[in-house]
Amino acid sequence: MTLCWLLFLSLVSLSSNYLSEAPFDARTGDHVAGLSLSYPAWGALIEPVTALAHINAGAPDVRVAAISFLCWCFLTPLLIATVRDAVKKRTYPRFMHYGRALLLGTEASLVFVFYVVFVLLVPLPTWYLHDDTSKSDIIGDLHSHTLFSHDGLVTPLQSLGQHKIIGDQVIGFTEHETPPYYNIEKKNVGIIPGIEIGADDGTYLLALGIHPEEYKRPLVHTQQQVEAFIDQIHRLHHGAVFAMSIHLQPKDVQRLVDMGVDGFEIDNGGHISPSPAMKRTLIEAQKRYGIALLADSDWHGWSSLIQEWTVFRNVGDKGASGAAVVDSLRHHGRDNIIPVTAYHRGLVTPVQAIFSPVLQTYRYAQELNPMRLFAWWLWGLIALLVIKWCRSRQVNPAKAMLASSLYFIGLSSLVVCCIQFYMWFPYREVNQFAGKTYMEGFFLSLLPLFAAHFISRGIQTREYGGTFFLSRLFLFRARNAQIIQK
Ligand SMILES: [Zn+2]
Ligand SMILES: [Zn+2]
Repeated sequence: MTLCWLLFLSLVSLSSNYLSEAPFDARTGDHVAGLSLSYPAWGALIEPVTALAHINAGAPDVRVAAISFLCWCFLTPLLIATVRDAVKKRTYPRFMHYGRALLLGTEASLVFVFYVVFVLLVPLPTWYLHDDTSKSDIIGDLHSHTLFSHDGLVTPLQSLGQHKIIGDQVIGFTEHETPPYYNIEKKNVGIIPGIEIGADDGTYLLALGIHPEEYKRPLVHTQQQVEAFIDQIHRLHHGAVFAMSIHLQPKDVQRLVDMGVDGFEIDNGGHISPSPAMKRTLIEAQKRYGIALLADSDWHGWSSLIQEWTVFRNVGDKGASGAAVVDSLRHHGRDNIIPVTAYHRGLVTPVQAIFSPVLQTYRYAQELNPMRLFAWWLWGLIALLVIKWCRSRQVNPAKAMLASSLYFIGLSSLVVCCIQFYMWFPYREVNQFAGKTYMEGFFLSLLPLFAAHFISRGIQTREYGGTFFLSRLFLFRARNAQIIQK
C-alpha cells in the first residue's frame, strides 16, 4: 500500500504543471506572469504530517472540504463493515461487528478534529510568493488583525513575521476597534495603519492610511454617515477605503462605488469566495470605474496557511512603503493592482463536495515539487522499516504510527499554546479572547495525548473486535475478553 501511494504521488506530480501555472489571478483564474511560488525546504521534512492540511487548504472551499473529510472519516469504517458483512462469515455477533465500526468511525473523526486544532494553532510551512520581474512592484496584504482587535490572536510582530514568511512587503493592520498606535520598526516591511468598521446594513469597510492621532470612531448608522466616513478618510487622512464583498449583493456594488470606495475584496482568506454573480459584477465595476480588486488574508492568527496576496505593480522607487500602496489604491490603478491566490477558489458542486477528499488528494499530488516528492519517498522507506520492526516485535504498526502522530500533534499544539499564552499576557488588558483561546487550546491538545497513551497501552495486544483507543476507554473490554476466552 505504501508503494502504491508513493507511485500515485510520483506519477501525478511529475505529470502536472501546477508550479508553472500558479499563482493565479483571483479575477480570471489565469496564471499571473512574472510571479511564482516556492515552498520552504524545511517544510518538505515534515511533509507527511502537513499533507492533510495542504489537501484541505488548497480546496476551492476549505470548509466544505473539511466537513466532507470528517463525514468520510466517520462513514468509511461503517461502509467497510457492511461490505465485509456481505462477503464474509462473521465469527462474532452482528452488533459487535457494527459497534466496532461505529467506534472506529468515531475515533477517525476525533483524530481529524485533533488534527484541525493542530493546523489552526501550529505554524506550518506554506507558499512564498516571488516577484520575478521588477523591483518597483510591491506584494502586500491589506487586511490583517492582531491582538489589538477583540478577536485577534497574534502580536503585531508575529503577524509581520508570518507575512514576511509568505513574501509580503506591506501589511495593512485593520483592527476592529481602534487604528494601531503601535510603532514597529521592521526592516523591509511597510506597515499601513487601518481600521475595519461594520455599517448597520452589514457592509464592512476597511480604511487604510489612517493617522491614529486624528482618528475618531465615526457613526455609521445611515448611508449619509457611511458616505461622510469615506469622505473623511479621503480628505483628512489621505487614505483609501475598500469594502469586503462578504454580506454584499451584486446590487450593492454600484451604491458603494457611488459613495466613493476605492475597491473591493474579490478574495478573502477568512471567508468563502464571492458568488460567481458577485465576481462578475465586481469585474464589470472594475472595467467601468477602474476600482481596485484585492485578495486579502483577513488573518487573525488562525492557521499559518495564508494563500492570498495583492501585487501592486509599478509603484515606483519607494521600496516597501505603505504610502505608495495607499497612493496606488487611491488612483485606482486597475491594471497595476493584481489580486493573487495560490489556488483556485470558488463554489463547488454537490458531487465535488461529496468526493472532495479524493479530488483534493489528487490536486495535492499535483502541487508537489521534487523536494516534497523526495521527502515522501524517504518517509515511505522509513515507514516500511518501522512496519518491519513492529512485526518482529508483535507490535501493531498502524497503532504505533497513529500513536506517534498523535503524540506529535498533541505536544506541538501544547507547546505553541504555552508560547502564545506567554506572548499574549502583556496584552491582557486589550484582548481577553486570545488568552481564553490558548487556554482552551491547551486543554484540547491534551486529548490527542490521552488517545496516544491509550493506543500505546494496547499496542501489542490484538484484541478481537478492539479499536484504537475508545474500546480501551469504556466499552467492549469485558466482552472482548469473554469472546477471546471462548
Ligand atoms: Zn475579526
Ligand atoms: Zn477583518
